[in-house]
Amino acid sequence: MRASQFLISTLKEAPADAEVTSHKLMMRAGMIKKLGAGIYTYMPMGLRVIRKVESIVREEMDRAGAVECTMPVIQPAELWQETGRFEKMGPELLRIRDRHERDFVVQPTSEEVVTDIARQELRSYKQLPKNLYQVQTKFRDERRPRFGLMRGREFIMKDAYSFDRDPAAAKKSYETMAGAYRRIFDRFGLRYRAVAADSGAIGGDLSEEFQVIAATGEDAIVYCPQSEYAANMEKAEALAPQGPRPAAKQALQKVPTPGKATCEEVAELLKVPLATTVKSIVLATDKLDEKGAPVSTRLWLLLLRGDHGMNEIKAGKVPGLDAGFRFATTGEIEQHFGTRPGYLGPIGLREPVTVIADREVAVMADWICGANEEDFHIAGVNWGRDLPEPALVADLRNVVEGDPSPDGKGPLAIERGIEVGHIFYLGTKYSKAMNATFLDEDGKPKVFEMGCYGIGITRLPAAAIEQNHDERGIIWPDALAPFTVVVCPIGMDRSADVKAAAEKLHDELVAAGVEVLLDDRGERPGAMFADWELIGVPHRVVISDRGLKEGQLEYQHRRDAAATKVAAGEIAAFVK
Ligand code: ATP
Ligand code: MG
Ligand code: MG
Ligand code: MG
Repeated sequence: MRASQFLISTLKEAPADAEVTSHKLMMRAGMIKKLGAGIYTYMPMGLRVIRKVESIVREEMDRAGAVECTMPVIQPAELWQETGRFEKMGPELLRIRDRHERDFVVQPTSEEVVTDIARQELRSYKQLPKNLYQVQTKFRDERRPRFGLMRGREFIMKDAYSFDRDPAAAKKSYETMAGAYRRIFDRFGLRYRAVAADSGAIGGDLSEEFQVIAATGEDAIVYCPQSEYAANMEKAEALAPQGPRPAAKQALQKVPTPGKATCEEVAELLKVPLATTVKSIVLATDKLDEKGAPVSTRLWLLLLRGDHGMNEIKAGKVPGLDAGFRFATTGEIEQHFGTRPGYLGPIGLREPVTVIADREVAVMADWICGANEEDFHIAGVNWGRDLPEPALVADLRNVVEGDPSPDGKGPLAIERGIEVGHIFYLGTKYSKAMNATFLDEDGKPKVFEMGCYGIGITRLPAAAIEQNHDERGIIWPDALAPFTVVVCPIGMDRSADVKAAAEKLHDELVAAGVEVLLDDRGERPGAMFADWELIGVPHRVVISDRGLKEGQLEYQHRRDAAATKVAAGEIAAFVK
């Protein structure tokens, strides 16, 4: 491939709404282009990476005995009404209507359609087990689409569904998928952890998430370095003894109700390190739930803009906040202030203030706040003007670092992860609801035992970048790189030798099956190198007249500090 034919569109600056590194770099490298909130075009360079992800996934799914199909993106509502999800699913499900006023959904996942296929096509136990998968566009109207492809509204998922005779066989299918997932994530060359996840209504342990380790990950994962134990925070909390942790309890007791405290005091209570130049607001509550635990999260997200005085707020003169004051929801804050919680400019209150809202107490100072999302709770977050990146400073949870692991093998550690895959034993939830049966050996109809298995195809490249980048740009693992090698000729337009050598190398590498791109755009060396360091092609070969005189080319891996001189004929060995 020649760069002049390809579409390369790098940017010097990332757009302002790009918050995390992967989003910034994917935008700057011209891999994706935003069309709307959470909706992106996969540009040629980005699509090549996505195709790499897909092909590894396909190879391993096929190897594990799954068979590919493609189900419609637009699906009739009737099927979704059979399982009740058309009503139950809430606003994440995009519902649309055709010209005949018939309801449809844009698939966020495809249990209904695949179960419908199974009840028609899988009639006998002899056809089981069966695992059907697709690599398809999904749409979820996420409350907070963000971080580029990491949490899009339109995205690509590989979703697979297994059908079995009985629970034992279904568990076997699940284990087969668990093995395939490990092979897939090993091949991506990323640091990841398979963690136990909540299997919801079904109970049991048959649900795991595959989490790519990254500080910017939205999930907290709990593991024991001394053993195999690993779970996501929800699962770990579910197993932990009920009620707040002693430290949390103590902290909450010390927060006056209603009371007044400076951010330093609150930080001290919560054992939250405070950045010297940034002060934090922390919201706490003494409100307990039926089990005596502070209401699920203990902390509410709140933002007050500095140009509203407290009296105005209390008098209900700030749109979006009621008279008498209550805590605003994340959505309200976003709508009202047009900014996303957690990534805010300074509020600029002049002095610490206390807000009293029925039985909940907010203590705050200059700005910043604790945050709460439906399933995710943060105690103190410092997102300061003086901090380069949002820094999570503390989780206030029932499970904290150093707790004994459930298997008793050592203390727990916590790290953050990006959920890139999720496997799930479903039981008969969907087959029962849709009366999906097959004839078993005894001639009697039985409902299928099912499992479902997802991989976030378009989330994966973003997760890979979070782990593999430096100040100059992306560093793709070979398995995911859009091109394996870039050939950079210097002065190709002036030197016939350079041109000939570059084209020769390009053609040789193509013949050897190497994915190579020849940068024939005629850019100056500095700009050309900066582009490829940004885009993150792992291997670079520079061809210049000076080198050619010595019979040598310059090879440099994206991670190398300096180039190595290599005889022209030996390049292929370097890039394999
Ligand atoms: P999350 O917890 O991040 O919202 P989820 O648990 O809702 O994800 P699943 O229903 O388990 O997602 O879907 C399977 C996989 O699809 C996830 O593991 C993730 O990799 C991917 N995925 C889910 N939502 C999105 C999204 N909005 N953008 C990109 N990928 C997504
Ligand atoms: Mg979700
Ligand atoms: Mg999840
Ligand atoms: Mg999930």
